[in-house]
Amino acid sequence: MIFGATGDLANRKLYPSLYRLYKKGKLAENFAVIGIARRSLTNEDFQSNVRKSVQSAVECSNDLEQFSSHFYYHSHDVTDSSSYLALKNLANNLDSHYKLEGNRIFYLAMAPEFFGTIAVHLKEDGLTDVAGYKRLVIEKPFGHDLESAKELNKQIRQAFSEDEIYRIDHYLGKEMVQNIEVIRFANAIFEPLWNNRYISNIQVTSSEVLGVEERGRYYEKSGALRDMVQNHMLQMVALLAMEPPIKLTTDEIRSEKVKVFRAFRPIEGEEVKTHFVRGQYAQGTVNAESLPAYREETMVDPQSNTETFVAGKLLIDNFRWAGVPFYIRTGKRMKAKSTKIVIQFKDIPMNLYYGKDQTLNPNLLVIHIQPDEGITLHLNAKKAGQQLDATPVKLNYANKGIDGINTPEAYEKLLLDCISGDATNFTHWDEVALSWSFVDKISQVWENTKEDNFPNYPAGTMGPKAADELLEQDGYFWWPVTDLDIEKC
Ligand code: NAD
Repeated sequence: MIFGATGDLANRKLYPSLYRLYKKGKLAENFAVIGIARRSLTNEDFQSNVRKSVQSAVECSNDLEQFSSHFYYHSHDVTDSSSYLALKNLANNLDSHYKLEGNRIFYLAMAPEFFGTIAVHLKEDGLTDVAGYKRLVIEKPFGHDLESAKELNKQIRQAFSEDEIYRIDHYLGKEMVQNIEVIRFANAIFEPLWNNRYISNIQVTSSEVLGVEERGRYYEKSGALRDMVQNHMLQMVALLAMEPPIKLTTDEIRSEKVKVFRAFRPIEGEEVKTHFVRGQYAQGTVNAESLPAYREETMVDPQSNTETFVAGKLLIDNFRWAGVPFYIRTGKRMKAKSTKIVIQFKDIPMNLYYGKDQTLNPNLLVIHIQPDEGITLHLNAKKAGQQLDATPVKLNYANKGIDGINTPEAYEKLLLDCISGDATNFTHWDEVALSWSFVDKISQVWENTKEDNFPNYPAGTMGPKAADELLEQDGYFWWPVTDLDIEKC
C-alpha cells in the first residue's frame, strides 16, 4: 500500500522502481499495489498514471499493461477512520486474489505529520492483523528534533515492532554509498591505513545546483541541517568511520554504526560558532541567468533565518579517529551538483622530489557518489622525461564505464530490500535518536541567534567564505569537487 500515491515521490521514484523490479523478475506475478491518496480516481485512471510515470523514467517499457494491471486505487483521507475499513476489505480481497499469504508493506510517501496517525489507524482498524509479515516504510523527515522523533516513534511502535520499521534514508540505497563498506573491508591496501596514523582529514560534500524550488514551506521549517545533515551526511560519516563488523548482518552493521554516533563529540554552546558554519544563498548569476535569493523564493519569509548551507567539523572520540577532523558541507544553489567523499592521507615524512616548482600532492582517495559513480586514487609518479620529477596521477574506476549500464536507482534497491526483509540499509531508531541529539545542540544555538550576515553566499558558488576558513584554521582546504571529477571514459 502506497500512501501518497498521487504525489511526487510515488510518481518519480516508486512506480519506475517497482517496474524495474518487475522487469527483473523480482516481483513475479503475485503482487498487488494499492495506491492511496485523497483525490478520487478510478483504477483505470490510476493505472494510466502509473504507466505514464514509468514511461517518463524507463526507456524500454513493454509489458506495461500487464504490470499496471496489478495497481488498484483507494481514495482516502488518512485522518478518517471509516475509510480504513474499506481499505482493509480491498486489501483482504487482493490478498486472496493474488495469493499474498497475508504479507503487507505499508509505504508512507506523504507529509510527515500524517506518519503517526496512519500507523495508529492501521493497527486500530485491523489492517495489520495479517497472517504474513507486515512492514512499515517511512520517508524522511523522521521528526523535527529528538523530542518529536521520540513522539513519532512511540506512535508507530504501537503498531509495528522495531524490526518491522524501515526508515528510508535513500542515500543508503545509492550504489557508491553501499560501496564504502566494500572498498574499506575488501581491500588489504586501505583498511590498515584507515585511521588517525595515516589519514589527515576526511571531507564529505553534497552540493546541489537547484534552489529550494517549490519546497519553500517545508524547507523554512527544516533548513539544510535537518534536511541533509541529520540523516544523509551523518550516515555517510558513520559508514566511513565504523569498525569492521564481525559479520555482514543487519544487527552487526547497525551496531557498529551506532558506536560511531555515540562517539561523535557533542558540539554545543560557543563551540557551534567555531565548528559549524551556516549559509543562505543570495541572488547570483549562473550561465548568464539571474537566480533569485532564497528570501525571494515562493513560500519563504523575506526575513528568513533558515540556512540553505551547512559546513561543519565533526570529531569522533575513539582510538581510530581521535584527532582526525571529518568536514561535511552541503547546500543548495551551489556551483556544482556533486556528492563526493575525499579521504586525504597524511604527507609522507620527507619530500625527496621537492624541486624547483615541485610540490607533492597528498594522496587522496575520492569516492564519487553522484552524479559520477566511481573511485579515484590520487598518487604521485615519475614525470616522463630525463629528470626524476614527481607528478600527480589519477587511477580511476568509473562505475558506468565498467558495467556499461546505469546502476540501479536507490529506491529500487531499497524497495527490494524491504520486500526481502533486509533492513540493513534503513536507519535504526538508535541511529535516528543519536543523530537528532547531535544536531539539536546546533539547531538550538542557531534558532536563538539570528545570523546577521544572511544571505552570505551568492547562488552558484561553493558557499560562504567562513566555510573555507573552517578548514584553513586547521591548515587544510576543501578539495574543489569539480577538479576531482572522473575523466569521462
Ligand atoms: P507530495 O506533496 O507530492 O504528495 C503527497 C501525497 O499525499 C499526495 O498523493 C496527496 O494526495 C497525499 N495526501 C495528502 N494529504 C492527504 C490526506 N489527508 N489523506 C490522504 N492522502 C493525502 O509529497 P512528496 O514529494 O511525494 O513527498 C512524500 C514524502 O516523501 C514526504 O515525507 C517527503 O519528505 C518524502 N520525500 C520526498 C522526496 C521527493 O523527491 N519528492 C524525496 C525524499 C523524501
